[in-house]
Amino acid sequence: MSADPTRAVRPRYPATWGDAAAPGASSTTRPRPDSIAAEGGKPTVLRSQQAYRQTPVQPGVPTGQGMDSQAVRDSMVERLRAMGGMEPTVLQAMLAVPRHLFLEPGLAAQAYLDNALPIGHGQTISKPSVVARCASVLLQSLGAKPGRVLEIGTGCGYQAAVLSRVAGEVYSIERIRALHELARRNLRALRLPNLRLLLGDGTDGAIAGAPFDAVLSAAACAEVPASWLSQLRPGGVLLAPVGQPQRLMGYRKTATTKVDSWCVEDAYFVPLKSGVL
Ligand code: SAH
Repeated sequence: MSADPTRAVRPRYPATWGDAAAPGASSTTRPRPDSIAAEGGKPTVLRSQQAYRQTPVQPGVPTGQGMDSQAVRDSMVERLRAMGGMEPTVLQAMLAVPRHLFLEPGLAAQAYLDNALPIGHGQTISKPSVVARCASVLLQSLGAKPGRVLEIGTGCGYQAAVLSRVAGEVYSIERIRALHELARRNLRALRLPNLRLLLGDGTDGAIAGAPFDAVLSAAACAEVPASWLSQLRPGGVLLAPVGQPQRLMGYRKTATTKVDSWCVEDAYFVPLKSGVL
């Protein structure tokens, strides 16, 4: 079993007991969209994760929650590996990033099931299999470790943390201020110096970091914004859910103005919206 680098800075999460969130513990088996309520609906109010973390827990005393166990994360990664087509470096990253820390306490027991879960403001954390798949497709299409990656749609910051472990540098942009701040809080303890969080409308990309080796959108668009392609370096790859019904599409910029595209698979993401909230 590999060491958990987060444990050194999180003494309140000792390995406790086994697989509370093991397969079959509870879950839906039907495919779920990677989204929940529309943003226009009433925002889901979640208890502050910060408050949860401030709950005094004595080091070495079991929390009784078990989702912090490395064994639970190991079994999630084994299930992802069994799906096939996943890059070993992505699976390594997912072993290291504690997904339960990105969730509201009432949902943390489901952290290592293959579920999209609410993070508030009508948005979701992507399913582990979607994160693994997108990052793997990016790496496979680039054929090398990406230098600089732009993620559209930080949400709670989970995928950004995974990407930061497989890429040289990651920019991640979010349009909802409360989520941008949530991601900042979630990521602080992980100390990922190569990850930059931006608040803004990702429809315009992130000119401050361009050109990018890769752009990955976690929100579905009707058409790919021109800025995403223009901010890619030649040879760079864009992966985004596009159209209705949604398809996860890949685009490779072959020269300054030429782009090859291909369909990866069906997709279920929350919509790309404009403006900053
Ligand atoms: N990356 C997340 C998934 C977040 S869901 C994870 O790790 O699980 C998609 C996110 O895209 C939402 O938080 C939503 O607010 C955001 N989003 C939608 N339109 C956007 C836009 N134009 N610019 C930036 N973020 C956007």
